[in-house]
Amino acid sequence: MSSTLVWLRDDLRLDDNPAVAEAASQGDPLTVVYVLDEVSPGVRPLGGAAKWWLHHSLVSLAADLEAAGSRLLLRSGPAERVIRQVAEETGATRLLWNRRYGGPERAVDSGLKEWAAGQDISATSFQANLMFEPWTVRTGSGGPYKVFTPFWKACLDAPEPRHPLDAPDQLPAPAHNGSGELPAGEALEAWALLPHRPDWSAGLAAEWTPGEAGAHLRLADFLDGPAADYGTGRDIPGVEGTSRLSPHLRFGEISPFRVWHALRERFPHGAPADVGVFRSELGWREFCWQLLYENPQLATRNYRPEFDRFAWQTPSDAELEAWQQGRTGYPLVDAGMRQLWQTGWMHNRVRMAAASFLVKNMLADWRLGEAWFWDTLVDADAASNPANWQWVAGSGADASPYFRIFNPVTQSKKFDAAGRYLREFVPELAKLDDKAVHEPWKADGAAAGYPAPIVGLPESRARALETYQRLKDG
Ligand code: FAD
Repeated sequence: MSSTLVWLRDDLRLDDNPAVAEAASQGDPLTVVYVLDEVSPGVRPLGGAAKWWLHHSLVSLAADLEAAGSRLLLRSGPAERVIRQVAEETGATRLLWNRRYGGPERAVDSGLKEWAAGQDISATSFQANLMFEPWTVRTGSGGPYKVFTPFWKACLDAPEPRHPLDAPDQLPAPAHNGSGELPAGEALEAWALLPHRPDWSAGLAAEWTPGEAGAHLRLADFLDGPAADYGTGRDIPGVEGTSRLSPHLRFGEISPFRVWHALRERFPHGAPADVGVFRSELGWREFCWQLLYENPQLATRNYRPEFDRFAWQTPSDAELEAWQQGRTGYPLVDAGMRQLWQTGWMHNRVRMAAASFLVKNMLADWRLGEAWFWDTLVDADAASNPANWQWVAGSGADASPYFRIFNPVTQSKKFDAAGRYLREFVPELAKLDDKAVHEPWKADGAAAGYPAPIVGLPESRARALETYQRLKDG
């Protein structure tokens, strides 16, 4: 008797899920499993905020599967062993999953494919989470692109991403084990993904609705609102000018194909410039994954090896904490770091400014910042996080030039002129006028309790330029 095993990973959805759609069309008894794997070699355990997200996303997925006549089986351990075990228990004759692109994850998947071939189990993988898989976008000489603009041009010149598949209304009944029982799963609560003592997740819960339904609501809100003005709105941290789809895309609660075609349907008469800009942001996500695919150690190794010689300065614990906790004395950096801590998310422009401050003004190794973001972002992504940190540091592909040092004061004056964002996240500044809110040290004590700058901007900028220049000179 045939039986299907679908292994869901970073694709926690039923809509546009090719592995699920294939299982539905076959109709054989079905097991849908999620494996919490923190132990396979090289697999990076999730940070705290992402664990919070995962918990809620799995609750939502389990409910959606049950509504469709199926169930979600939870297991933990080294994924290859766990999947083999579940396949054996349920007598699976067919393994289905959607492809992953990280090095350790690919190693697990190819190990399983090999094992399945020896067991006469068919194993089929699908394209679901990237619109342009890394090996399909190549330069004229067959290598990977190292610069975004030609990469994205090649993607846009390729056939348009396929249409998304609708979620099946009904899924086949769950497969039983050899004793005629449903395979036993673990309790989600036993995984202890939610924080306790202290429970710092209230701000996250107020901001987000993890799960597929929440993802589709975000998309609808974006299309009805900021999408039409995305080109300018996306740079203003004090307004909701972006989609906030990043954690949903990170966990695969919505597919990039769905987002792409929803935009196309919403703006059917050609793409206004704003839609083109938004699409290219989706393109950055694809580019980051291509970089990770080619450089599996992107989170730990400089993409440009000459940066191994860079003279990073180790910050003191107090300095690093001042950055992490939003107490650097620079309102834009502090507002961003506090937004991150409270909501698990930070506006992109502020991410660039806060990261530049750590790496350039404090001259701290980008890996310190990457690790903090990994732990605190709900959208912490194995590709986008290190790729963007390396972009800011200058050690990455198509990186920001070394002399580009974001000035947090100029940035907030330009993009948050009325101080709306600054006041929201740094309440000590609430009483300052629109001028002083950007430079509270000039405000004669009116910003009670707000720290003085931990480094001076002109000196730290000069020190950074000098250090980068030394690297350049060899
Ligand atoms: P929108 O502006 O609505 O963009 C739509 C989607 O495009 C995003 O959801 C995201 O999937 C993708 N996207 C947009 N900008 C980028 C980018 N620069 N790189 C890659 N993908 C992009 N993004 C993450 O998803 N995870 C991370 O861990 C992450 N770490 C970052 C670290 C630093 C230092 C910096 C500067 C940026 C980082 N980003 C990361 C990129 C970017 O800040 C976020 O994707 C964006 O702010 C998410 O908000 P949004 O969904 O409203 O984006």
